[in-house]
Amino acid sequence: MRVLVVGAGFAGAIYSRVLAENGFHVSVIDRRSHIAGNCYDFLDLSGVRVHKYGPHLFHTNNQEVFDWLSRFTQWVEYEHRVQAKLPSGAFTPLPINRLTINSVFDLKLSDEAEVIEFLRKESEPYKTERPGNAADYLNGNIGKLLTDLFFRPYTKKMWNLNLEELSSSVVRRIPIRYDCEDRYFPSDKIQVLPENGYTALFENIFQHDNIEIKLGLPFEKDFENDFSYVFNSMAIDEYFGFSFGALPYRSIKFHLCDASDSGSSTASVVNYTDSGAYTRETHWYRLPGNVAVSRVKSVEEPCDYRDNNFERYYPVKTADDRYQALYKQYKQEADKRENINFIGRCGTYQYLDMDQVVNQSLLGVRRFISSVR
Ligand SMILES: Cc1cc2nc3c(=O)[nH]c(=O)nc-3n(C[C@H](O)[C@H](O)[C@H](O)COP(=O)(O)OP(=O)(O)OC[C@H]3O[C@@H](n4cnc5c(N)ncnc54)[C@H](O)[C@@H]3O)c2cc1C
Repeated sequence: MRVLVVGAGFAGAIYSRVLAENGFHVSVIDRRSHIAGNCYDFLDLSGVRVHKYGPHLFHTNNQEVFDWLSRFTQWVEYEHRVQAKLPSGAFTPLPINRLTINSVFDLKLSDEAEVIEFLRKESEPYKTERPGNAADYLNGNIGKLLTDLFFRPYTKKMWNLNLEELSSSVVRRIPIRYDCEDRYFPSDKIQVLPENGYTALFENIFQHDNIEIKLGLPFEKDFENDFSYVFNSMAIDEYFGFSFGALPYRSIKFHLCDASDSGSSTASVVNYTDSGAYTRETHWYRLPGNVAVSRVKSVEEPCDYRDNNFERYYPVKTADDRYQALYKQYKQEADKRENINFIGRCGTYQYLDMDQVVNQSLLGVRRFISSVR
């Protein structure tokens, strides 16, 4: 059976490899000139590895996902830490922990019980039983001052939404810590980076006699005629000609620059809490495996995807879930088609971490193979 896979990111790569290993002949196309989707990385002129589409930190508790990927790469351990740069110029740990609170309020809270009691006094009662919007959720958990300092300007520039308009699910992903834990993903037992980068990992996944790849080739409907089945990771609304309306995405412009004047922070990633145009900076030379011969960093400027060459990064989740309702209309159309399945972040209009997209893809492709045998 000949199968077309649209998109050479994680979703497309997993489908391709498992299909190929099961005797299917797979053609992969991607409109970009490189494989690896948004995980694509490269060495800059000084030899520092840069992730072209923003820092990608692999973290998971899913051993099966990790074992599957480990067939194609060695790993290096890396525990990610982030700092926030306050409008005053001071740096604090992020997500908010006890040190952050002590620093912002000039306190000396010494244990978890004191922090919990402090935040209880700071916070306001929820306006609804289970808050659907980010403002209500945050005010109810950390109070107005911390909400307005760490989340309000950041949300506006990242999402172009007020906290009242943003789904609480977006900020629920960011825990509040009562202790001094400052790792970004403390509950994930696996925290690593691929030893030779993501692009090399993808090269190994795609290395199979039953897989052919064509890059720089955007999908066209006519292509479907040559294949028995299509797995498609392009934006689902674009596939259907935006017939129900466009699904919005936020995008990011990355500005690569010299990091020599970055102040006293030692974190790989620094988030800006101010109301300027930029959200964060990544110091690539601080990631493992890099010799700090050059101090290159990238600074992120969020924007609408239409202002960045239709580069779709983050599906927008509003408190009223209106875009999830719009997505469901496209999904219903897709379900009527017998020979196509939409996969990955833009095919299913959801933010997925790498381990989640690998897991979903492994489950999906195995289901497909057993259904056609
Ligand atoms: C800024 C940023 C930072 C992130 N950081 C992390 C992180 O630290 N940890 C983590 O676990 N996850 C992170 N992620 C999530 C991670 O990028 C995704 O989980 C992963 O890339 C999803 O894979 P995918 O295959 O669904 O999509 P993609 O990687 O986007 O791949 C889709 C591919 O399809 C191609 N395509 C689209 N339309 C067409 C078309 N019409 N014709 C042909 N080709 C097409 C695209 O060019 C692209 O290469 C981050 C995401 C972003 C945006």
